[in-house]
Amino acid sequence: MKVFDLQCEHAHVFEGWFASHEDYDAQQARGLVTCPVCNSGDISRRVSAPHLNVAHLHASASAPAHAPNGKAVEAGGTRQAQAVAQLQAAMLQKIREFVRNTEDVGPRFAEEARAIHQGDAQERAIRGTSTPDERRELAEEGIDVVALPDIFNDERLQ
Ligand SMILES: [Zn+2]
Repeated sequence: MKVFDLQCEHAHVFEGWFASHEDYDAQQARGLVTCPVCNSGDISRRVSAPHLNVAHLHASASAPAHAPNGKAVEAGGTRQAQAVAQLQAAMLQKIREFVRNTEDVGPRFAEEARAIHQGDAQERAIRGTSTPDERRELAEEGIDVVALPDIFNDERLQ
């Protein structure tokens, strides 16, 4: 079952339910798809569903409030939440990989970061611990340090 958001020549927006994309094309070609408001047969599909669902969420006050449309919005929202969760999981994985590939210099972090910055030590990615004072000094010297939450620096990384 395909649910398409359709629009007539008078900009009436409505939902059409079809067995398939081909079913929609066939019905549309034969003029069987008509606007429930003005009965016009000049119907076009609106932009893709995910975009439309977001638009509906943002413009919920003006969106048609009948039940099938509400369900479509809900389903779209869930799919988007899942996509975001997957993206976050992938990003966490990437950051963990990155952290694993850094050299752990422990409490000598500020010292090592400064040495690398000044060319006194080999250029490499390091991780370690530093005090707020040390981080402030590094920042004043123009040394970029990324502070990561503790979840990236526990036994799971070893
Ligand atoms: Zn119409």
